[in-house]
Amino acid sequence: MPTIAENLAAVRARIQAAASRAGRSAADVQLVAVSKTHPPEIVHEAIAEGVTVLGESRIQEAKAKISELPGKLQWHFIGHLQTNKAREAVELFHTIQSVDSVRLARELDKFAGHASRRLAVLLECNVSGEATKFGFKPDEVMEALAELNRLPRLDIQGLMTMAPFFEDPQEARPTFRALRELRDQLQVRHGIPLPTLSMGMTNDFEVAIEEGATMVRIGTAIFRTAPDDPS
Ligand SMILES: *Cc1c(COP(=O)(O)O)cnc(C)c1O
Repeated sequence: MPTIAENLAAVRARIQAAASRAGRSAADVQLVAVSKTHPPEIVHEAIAEGVTVLGESRIQEAKAKISELPGKLQWHFIGHLQTNKAREAVELFHTIQSVDSVRLARELDKFAGHASRRLAVLLECNVSGEATKFGFKPDEVMEALAELNRLPRLDIQGLMTMAPFFEDPQEARPTFRALRELRDQLQVRHGIPLPTLSMGMTNDFEVAIEEGATMVRIGTAIFRTAPDDPS
């Protein structure tokens, strides 16, 4: 049964290899360890191995976990955020990766103002066209970015997407390429730098890195320690 330390070493080696294949530096790919569904004592093992950025997708679960795992950690929210949870999200998280509407962005900006802080955000985009996915459609984000960029407390760092699940991760490549191309177009059209591309999960992160991911969100490959663990 692999340990979390072994899992992490394997994930880091795979990030390194994928970056090399693409002529990129692994230092330009930030690992977000997705700790959702895993208890604090397990997450602690990853922190002991040098993980500093963690991803959670539910506010209530994150609240309990964050209070039990103090230290120099950066917590990123990666799930669908309801507008009525914006205040708590601003209290708990360093970055919100899943901003998927102008309305949510306005609420986050308001509560960041109340907290006298700036809030790092990514705009979640639905570039695969899957009806079940959250996120701005490409034409919507093209339209909305000017207004979003005027929200004074939000620091829009880039884009995030989730590819559909495929048995063969190569099939996710067009989704990742589409996010990169959308980012390039947004930068040109709006003159706003969007350096971060958060894309790639356990099943497809190597392909995402080959397509320019600067951030990968990996849960299962780090925290699964038994082959039959359903998570
Ligand atoms: C759960 C989740 C991940 C991590 O998925 P794994 O397949 O476990 O690596 C990444 N991003 C989002 C948005 C998630 O909800």
